[in-house]
Amino acid sequence: MTGRSSDHPSDRPSDRFRGSFTRQSPLPEAAIAAATEVLRHGRLHRYTLAPGEAGEATLLEEEFAAWQGARYCVALASGGQALAIALRAAGVRPDEPVLTNAFTLAPVPGAIAAVGARPVLVEVAEDLTIDLDDLAARATETGARWLLLSHMRGHICDMDRLCRVADAAGLRVIEDCAHTMGARWDGVRSGRHGIAACFSTQTYKHMNSGEGGLLTTDDPDLAARAVLMSGSYMLYDRHRAAPGTEVFDRHRTAVPNMSARMDDLRAAILRPQLAGLDAACAEWTALYRVVEAGLRGTPGLTLIDRPAREGFVGSSIQFRLQGWSARAIGAVLEGCAARGVDLRWFGAARAQGYTSTYRHWGGAAGATPDLPRTDAVLAGLIDMRLPLSFSREDGATVARIVSDEVSHAQALAGDVAE
Ligand SMILES: *Cc1c(COP(=O)(O)O)cnc(C)c1O
Repeated sequence: MTGRSSDHPSDRPSDRFRGSFTRQSPLPEAAIAAATEVLRHGRLHRYTLAPGEAGEATLLEEEFAAWQGARYCVALASGGQALAIALRAAGVRPDEPVLTNAFTLAPVPGAIAAVGARPVLVEVAEDLTIDLDDLAARATETGARWLLLSHMRGHICDMDRLCRVADAAGLRVIEDCAHTMGARWDGVRSGRHGIAACFSTQTYKHMNSGEGGLLTTDDPDLAARAVLMSGSYMLYDRHRAAPGTEVFDRHRTAVPNMSARMDDLRAAILRPQLAGLDAACAEWTALYRVVEAGLRGTPGLTLIDRPAREGFVGSSIQFRLQGWSARAIGAVLEGCAARGVDLRWFGAARAQGYTSTYRHWGGAAGATPDLPRTDAVLAGLIDMRLPLSFSREDGATVARIVSDEVSHAQALAGDVAE
């Protein structure tokens, strides 16, 4: 790679972005006040209640279920725990194949491995959603009964077609909504198509409690089993967004306690955020549209089309440098980094931070399969976080820098193909 001086002759723009891609918005004052109250009384455990008190975790479950339009909700220690508990509560058995997206985050195949089942990875399509033809083919080939559908980076596949494919193949669908909390498909909230949905409230997701997870479902037996697995001891009657005790009676002695409860401190922090979640999601998407508009028309850069039916939450943006060499992509990443813009590349040989691909998951994904279409997409796939601490002006600045660096690398390389 040539040095910065020859890459950037003095007539090149040198504006630099000063914002931080990892800085969160501060929590709302109401969350701080609610957390302080829990700290003052000291009853952090969800079942340690004063007389007549419902508890923050219980109230959060009730409010999240209502917001999501689901009958039941369980608050958990993490999104990954929500996935593992959803799989187990649904009845996934050890050694069974579970279909899932090849393009997702490591805790998704990790959750399948955690219940002793076998992840079967499905190719990604060019729009970054699950490849529905490959899904149908792998379902037939493996006889799988389950799909853990990950709406990775907030991209929602054609859910009508997905439901048809799943019905035809006899697949039950559990949704990983870590990046689609607040998103909709054709007006229906993401997470309402499958038998259960899992959300994360880890700091980089749409609500922030440091760590945390939420599981929603309309299935009373799945809900009761999930509450018991979360580690409710025999205090499940303190849950409100849960089925009646007669349902628990069917499962209470048959279900292992996997100890993955959310505590009342985290729940207290989340309740005020839930009240502002729809507004935050709208702001994210407005920011996304600013960045997208700034990138549009950049030679060599392919944006991901977002269908009108996809009511996505733009908390990150992806674009493709299709057919570019690793060297040319490296030049873009370096040029952007030097100007304060933090891009992630899914085609890197080594996993970095959160950015890993199925080739890096090792044992969790079983023997590494051959996924040529996924390889081709990931080779040119770039990802950028859009924290809500960015103003729309920040979004425009960031897009201008990326567009400029991509154009420049493209011009330098002449022919960027390998
Ligand atoms: C973050 C994330 C999870 C898991 O959430 P944790 O709370 O970190 O365990 C699952 N799936 C995807 C796509 C994620 O980004």
